[in-house]
Amino acid sequence: MALVLVVEDERDIREVLRRYLEREAHGVLTCGTGAEGLRLLREADPDLVLLDLGLPDIDGLEILDAATATHTPVIALTARAAVENRIEGLQRGADDYVTKPFSPKEVVLRVAAVLGRRVAPAAPGPMTYGGARLSIDGDRHEVRVGGRLVELTPSEWGILVALASRPGRVYSRLELVNRVRGYAYEGYERTIDSHVKNLRHKLDDPEVVETVVGVGYRLGLDRDP
Ligand code: CA
Repeated sequence: MALVLVVEDERDIREVLRRYLEREAHGVLTCGTGAEGLRLLREADPDLVLLDLGLPDIDGLEILDAATATHTPVIALTARAAVENRIEGLQRGADDYVTKPFSPKEVVLRVAAVLGRRVAPAAPGPMTYGGARLSIDGDRHEVRVGGRLVELTPSEWGILVALASRPGRVYSRLELVNRVRGYAYEGYERTIDSHVKNLRHKLDDPEVVETVVGVGYRLGLDRDP
């Protein structure tokens, strides 16, 4: 599972992609303009971008360049007629492309293929964050904040470990549900919010778990070297 950013100005296409990707347990962020796409790329640090090259405000290739600069894989979505765009897009570093009209199933398969080419991040062992403000020891199953041992429920542990696997990266609630339970269920947003609320209360350090409004949560501390 991964966080996928869909930049596409056609609402129907956006929503069908969201449905299919969420069915595969991916977290999905969508937007309809290039400006919003650039912002989400920067703030949410997605694992992959599905990018419509024909956007209303800016040239999709601008987003492609921004994604390439941060080594974020891109699958370009292009109109069948726009052959030149397609070739240029691939030459500028898109990992793959699909032409419209496409089958959402095909897009999902290509997403899996592109993500499969990337190396999975290592599970966190004993790690410290924010100058040892937070420490997580996966072997001992222990969390400490400012040296104080904190007892967490399995759900709270799962959320914190997921956030800490990539500090600063935003995780949507759906992704966190999948990390914690392995599947999505009704009302997951409220459930995750209440786990996060309890987790924050126990950690007693408001900067450890940050809210990114409209997107999800992230670890607010850097991993120590
Ligand atoms: Ca378009």
